[in-house]
Amino acid sequence: MSITEQQLLRKKSLGYDTPNPGEKKKIFSFAEGYMDFLGEAKTERIFIKNTIELLEGAGFKSFSRKQSLNVGDKVYFINRNRSLAAAIIGSDSLKNGVNLVASHVDSPRLDLKPIPLFEADGALYIKTHYYGGIKKYQWATIPLSLMGTVALKSGKTVDISIGQDADDPVFVISDILPHLGKLQAKKTCDEIIEAEQLNAYGATIPFEDEDAKEKIKLNFLYLLNKKYKINEEDLISADLCLVPAAMPRDIGLDRSLIGGYGQDDRVCAYASLIAFLEARESKKTKLLYLADREEVGSMGNSGCQSAFLTNVIEELAEKFNVKVRDVFSNTVCLSADVCAAYDPNFPEAFERNNALYLNGGTAFMKYTGGRGKGGSSEASAELISYIRKIFDKGNVKWQIGELGKTDFGGGGTVAQYIANLGAEVIDSGVPVISMHSPYEVTSKYDVYMTCKGYKVFYEN
Ligand code: MN
Ligand code: MN
Repeated sequence: MSITEQQLLRKKSLGYDTPNPGEKKKIFSFAEGYMDFLGEAKTERIFIKNTIELLEGAGFKSFSRKQSLNVGDKVYFINRNRSLAAAIIGSDSLKNGVNLVASHVDSPRLDLKPIPLFEADGALYIKTHYYGGIKKYQWATIPLSLMGTVALKSGKTVDISIGQDADDPVFVISDILPHLGKLQAKKTCDEIIEAEQLNAYGATIPFEDEDAKEKIKLNFLYLLNKKYKINEEDLISADLCLVPAAMPRDIGLDRSLIGGYGQDDRVCAYASLIAFLEARESKKTKLLYLADREEVGSMGNSGCQSAFLTNVIEELAEKFNVKVRDVFSNTVCLSADVCAAYDPNFPEAFERNNALYLNGGTAFMKYTGGRGKGGSSEASAELISYIRKIFDKGNVKWQIGELGKTDFGGGGTVAQYIANLGAEVIDSGVPVISMHSPYEVTSKYDVYMTCKGYKVFYEN
């Protein structure tokens, strides 16, 4: 009796190592839909708005406490227009838990300060305060769109979008020319563009009125008012931000990669949304959760640390006379978030044996955190064995690894907050190159496999 090499060694391969022309077609067409969605949904509000449209198109109804809930019913819950949960009721009792995929729809960006406009030396500037972990220098000298929502005293809201159409003007933050960059060149990465230098050019032509004081600012506000009927005071009650104006594009001569802003984590949010909509009927109740404010620690009433998810489970549990604690302790959750893809330009940051690779398929991380696994939850051996089983059976190409070298840094996701509620949780998502930059890169193969994986998870 002998055991073979095949039985003993783990198979290592990348996605395209085994050619599958039929699948390649599906991979590329899935990417098209994703890139269209990503290019539009540059804020969490737009992501949620477009999600609701898709859900309603698929027969979902906004949950009402008065309604009854039956097997097959499809409901959604909106949280502050920036976060959402949706459920498809399964035939199994809710006390046996739900299959939950949880992602986040906020991305690093430059928020406008409460008083954003100032005029100086012949120009009007827009002052920003960065949101999330960015390398500030990356946001200078790139075209930026102004997007968001202004809430008026009347109670009405006005959606702002400047820079998304090819004909629109855009905004830009300056950098010093290399000829005069001697002082800057001595600074660290964090200091070469400082937070208070994140001011974007807004206008330079003065308003034609000899008596007016700040004429350029006045002209800027005149133009803004012409389009949106708002004034400077209204900018105080607003969620406005500057985001990269660039649209998602194919990368590489073979068009295998996707470049675009906000792929962390809208790539997993989109993949989970499509998986949720397309998954076959199954016994378990399916739950989709799109969280906000992950990039700043999941704090606040639209973040994953808020009561929202618990409240949603409670609404569902009450309908079936089930205890919330039973639902959570029997729930399995994929924390759908991106991870770092191995980058050959920076091999020093990765431990190659446990790195995650472009075209390696959807990626799992057993834990995130930093140093000695600090600040993270960890998926159990039992959960990973379950995931291996269903993903292999469903022909989902997957890989598992860590963010990067131990003690080189770290990161977190919403996994820990959902694990704290009692659920079994594992991080699962798409590897990204240049994460948190204005132009993140993913592989079409991995995006497709991630959606396929979420679908398999929902169907089990
Ligand atoms: Mn993320
Ligand atoms: Mn992030």
